[in-house]
Amino acid sequence: MTKSDDTFHIHPPERSRQPFQAVAMPVERASTIVFDDLEAFEKRAERVYDGFSYGLYGTPTSRLLEDHIAQLEGASRAIVVPSGMAALTLATMAVCRSGDRILMPETLYGPARDMILRLLGPLGIPAQSYDPRLDAGIAELLDERTRLVWVESPGSATFEVQDVPAIVAAAHKVGALVAADNTWASHLLFKPLAHGVDISMQALSKHAGGHGDLLMGSLAVRDEGLFRRLKDTARFLGYGVSPEDCALCERGLMTMPVRMRHAAATAAEILAWLSRRPEIVRILHPAMPGHPGHAVWERDFSGAAGVFSVVLRPELAPCRTRSCGGCACSGSARAGAAFIR
Ligand SMILES: *Cc1c(COP(=O)(O)O)cnc(C)c1O
Repeated sequence: MTKSDDTFHIHPPERSRQPFQAVAMPVERASTIVFDDLEAFEKRAERVYDGFSYGLYGTPTSRLLEDHIAQLEGASRAIVVPSGMAALTLATMAVCRSGDRILMPETLYGPARDMILRLLGPLGIPAQSYDPRLDAGIAELLDERTRLVWVESPGSATFEVQDVPAIVAAAHKVGALVAADNTWASHLLFKPLAHGVDISMQALSKHAGGHGDLLMGSLAVRDEGLFRRLKDTARFLGYGVSPEDCALCERGLMTMPVRMRHAAATAAEILAWLSRRPEIVRILHPAMPGHPGHAVWERDFSGAAGVFSVVLRPELAPCRTRSCGGCACSGSARAGAAFIR
């Protein structure tokens, strides 16, 4: 984490709001807006990407947040949508057409895997799951029909760290795009676009929102054509974000670096305690030196987030569901342990 990153969190990009330049983000609500004349109204479609034409397509409040996220991601453009899940769906639908193939890690956020298989599969967009530890070996699964490769590092629940630059190099060789669900690290601890990823996605509901009262997601890109495809698709899907939520998210960003450091420090204390507990078989957090992804995490990330998993010794984990007869080795604990490699 660099000092300038912290500074950028409290300074959104310049946008003059004289004569009332509040420090906090102003909330501007709108559906219909007024045009200067008939000609301006008739040309309103030209304003979709930059100007304002209708509240659904952007307000000064949502645009300011988007500019701020683009800056923090090292992107040229960003778009905010109603949830992290909406961002995952938007990125996938904007890029893939019938006949295209998707590669997704086995550890991709569960609801996103469902969406890809059950919403896009029947639309003629097949997906193949891959072992998140394949890294450069993903080349064997790529072909000219592969349009999109999702990565999520570390993976949801099981925390495999992926060699994102190696995956990007292999994907780009066959002309596929790479999208990253970067929710765990956020733009603060890992910058996907700087590692060659084409679309950086995060659930702002988590670290940026920070207080459990906000749902939002973002996509950030460096390619203008790709941004326009995302923006058009968001329009077709009718995705709009409330200006109140944008202001809440902007407020969350201001304290995010401080909160993230505190969460990392607190997690480190809890991890030290957990590592001495007899009921814990393994701790799954890439900042732990014994973690299989530790070296790649150290190479690519600038810090640790506070979220991690533990694997319990099944014989010590009390069965609370009694779905397996109330014995000490719960079926779900065993299934969970089998999934951890
Ligand atoms: C929470 C989460 C999402 C989804 O975000 P929502 O805003 O809840 O839809 C996506 N990916 C990861 C890794 C998450 O943790």
